[in-house]
Amino acid sequence: MNCVQLSGVAVHAGPLVLVKEGYPFCGQVPPLMPVLGMPDVLMEKTAAILLNECVHAAGAQGKIVPVSGWRSRAQQQFIWDDTTQKEGELFALRFVARPGCSEHETGLAIDLALAAEHIDFIRPYFPYDGICGKFRALAAQYGFVMRYTKEKTTITGIACEPWHFRYVGTPHALLMEHNGLCLEEYAVFLRENGPQRCLLSGGREAVVFYLPAQKAYDVQLPQGCVQISGDNAGGFIVTLWQEAARRCGA
Ligand SMILES: [Zn+2]
Repeated sequence: MNCVQLSGVAVHAGPLVLVKEGYPFCGQVPPLMPVLGMPDVLMEKTAAILLNECVHAAGAQGKIVPVSGWRSRAQQQFIWDDTTQKEGELFALRFVARPGCSEHETGLAIDLALAAEHIDFIRPYFPYDGICGKFRALAAQYGFVMRYTKEKTTITGIACEPWHFRYVGTPHALLMEHNGLCLEEYAVFLRENGPQRCLLSGGREAVVFYLPAQKAYDVQLPQGCVQISGDNAGGFIVTLWQEAARRCGA
């Protein structure tokens, strides 16, 4: 067994952090790498690798292009100022998060476009059918969700953005998709419904559960087969991979 000490700081880190107005990103800049061979579009390393794999699995190399990935606070400020100036604050509030409150600052978000000569940087064209539909059908298996859907605008506070995908990790994306939940609803769902099981490819199973953050406490978890992510809202989401758990005697 592995004794893990959960502290308040870790609540702000991990692939399941909620970042939006009222929940600013206060984590570190993660290790970054280029996405889909574009040297100036970066994502958090694991997210970048899995996005590449998903695009390849969809046979969409060169047909789907990354438009905007990780942004520094300064870049987000520039985009906010520029959009506010050109399109007005109402438009910016609908489609551009305020600096500090953008998922793009976590390195876990990516805006995608169908390859074309002209691509709109703020609202790229990423339809629901064709090769983009093929990508969408596979996205959750690689840990990605369309973050801002039309059905959830009142919860997310962001207009429908068919181009914006968020990496949350495979069991979580599948559980969110299966239960029709957006990220805001997911932590609440886990908190209220207890541990959830998710069957993964290769016969593995993930067990996911929620732990509320307290001042500091220790939790006994099997070694080497656990991921703990903060939710940036007062708790942790723990992922336990069953096959690995058995191997290490849990
Ligand atoms: Zn975006």
